Amino acid sequence: MSGVDYDLFVIGAGSGGVRAARLAALSGARVAVAEEHRPGGTCVIRGCVPKKFMVYASEFADHFRLAEGYGWTVGERSFDWPAFLSLKDVEIARLSGIYAANLIKAGADLIEDKARFVDPHTLELVGQGRRVTAAKILIATGGRPKTPDDLPGVEHAITSNEAFHLPELPRSIVIVGGGYIAVEFACIFHGLGVDTTLVYRGANILRGFDEDVRSHLADELHKKGLRVMLSAQHESLEKTDQGLVSHLRGGGRLVSDQVMFATGRAPYVEGLGLEAAGVRLTDSGAIAVDDYSRTSAPHIWAVGDVTDRVNLTPVAIREGAAFAQTEFYGRPTRFDHDSIATAVFSQPQIACVGLTEAEARRSLGAVDIYRTAFRPMKTIFAGREDRVLMKLVVERATDRVVGCHIVGPDSAEMIQLAAIAVKAGLTKGQWDATCAVHPTLAEELVTMRDAYVPPEVGMTA
Ligand code: FAD
Ligand code: NDP
Repeated sequence: MSGVDYDLFVIGAGSGGVRAARLAALSGARVAVAEEHRPGGTCVIRGCVPKKFMVYASEFADHFRLAEGYGWTVGERSFDWPAFLSLKDVEIARLSGIYAANLIKAGADLIEDKARFVDPHTLELVGQGRRVTAAKILIATGGRPKTPDDLPGVEHAITSNEAFHLPELPRSIVIVGGGYIAVEFACIFHGLGVDTTLVYRGANILRGFDEDVRSHLADELHKKGLRVMLSAQHESLEKTDQGLVSHLRGGGRLVSDQVMFATGRAPYVEGLGLEAAGVRLTDSGAIAVDDYSRTSAPHIWAVGDVTDRVNLTPVAIREGAAFAQTEFYGRPTRFDHDSIATAVFSQPQIACVGLTEAEARRSLGAVDIYRTAFRPMKTIFAGREDRVLMKLVVERATDRVVGCHIVGPDSAEMIQLAAIAVKAGLTKGQWDATCAVHPTLAEELVTMRDAYVPPEVGMTA
């Protein structure tokens, strides 16, 4: 399309937008990226990366306890929250700079401004008050924390966005929700010595994960002394001289320094002017796309969290890459959303790939379950009762391993490799033919011989 400023205009310099923009620019296309906040997006600025630093920081309390079990004398311990925050912020600034530099190195223009549609091919750069035109447009604006806005007093609560910048570490915190963010941050704050209560409305945390995984993690969190209140829901929040008071349905009351809502995220489409571009939303407010991430407007695509498919960084990156391959390299590419491995950085970690037992029973019929729970070697000297869970879900008709679920230390590292085998459709026989690495936790994955017979097959759905 001639007479336009750019071949591709990308809105959002997060995981998906940056990957797509870099690849497109490297193909020789004229590319611009608008970013209203900081290059790197959620993952780098207020998601995966700073979260993982917080996980590392919070794990030391446990490392010190384990060390004593091995005969170390560990002296006076204290944690300097402001010092940690400034180290974290320096590293985040460095990474954000790398994202920006890589875009520029690839030949793309980085525009630090908010973009919104004026018409299907024209975008306004809101701060600069100028307009640009583009032949193709990619929306990669990510998501935002979602809080129950009708809850009285919710304005006193923080979300994960603020948790990365608290001026001081609270003495106590109530975390609301039972998903990834709630569970990860509950473990982080608990590890940092904050009196932490997780309040979840359902019967068990992490809905959607394998039932054995959910109950195993709940047991492990209980052993660590993390308070989890189930079937509990906020009625209101009140700011008082004693702190924030959480009033729960049924009369329960919790007083804490902070309350954090981790009650999901919503696609970020506010102020984008999608109506002016003819881009349609799904019923749940995400941008509707086809398998190639194309929206209802034929020259506009969307990738990542704003499409609410699988909201993970590597998925946004792969969707962005598939778009660029299709549109700028003449190689039609669809990202396959099947068997995406994922990890919850709780303490202990959860990691899984493929189907849960319930999903496999529903979709495949007969399945065999291989399951083991054991004490990890490392914590035995500390006299601890920690247990690791490993579970394989095997399709009986084909012997294919269709699901792998692990709760235990370093399970996120293990699942990356197990995911290759699950994605490749390898059979249990092939897993078993793989010789173990000893002594490791992961060796159990290739040494589980006997199928587990549940007391009532099918009851876990
Ligand atoms: P984003 O990375 O959110 O990027 C969108 C960008 O668009 C932002 O920079 C935003 O400022 C910009 N933008 C929005 N609107 C406009 C506009 N109109 N004009 C200009 N710029 C705009 N995933 C994992 O895989 N592993 C993890 O461990 C993990 N941990 C997480 C922890 C937390 C606390 C959170 C919140 C998320 C976590 N995620 C994790 C999810 C992951 O961060 C997201 O899936 C991923 O960042 C989505 O990438 P994206 O490109 O879709 O959007
Ligand atoms: P999730 O969707 O994972 O969890 C939201 C939680 O909030 C659920 O437990 C939900 O309960 C609960 N909830 C929703 N609405 C309310 C309400 N009104 N009152 C009380 N509870 C409520 O969202 P997160 O915010 O934890 O994370 C967003 C996404 O970001 C994740 O799904 C994941 O894709 C990504 N992420 C990935 C991480 C990783 O890879 N390690 C880490 C962090 C985020 P219910 O189950 O009953 O609906």
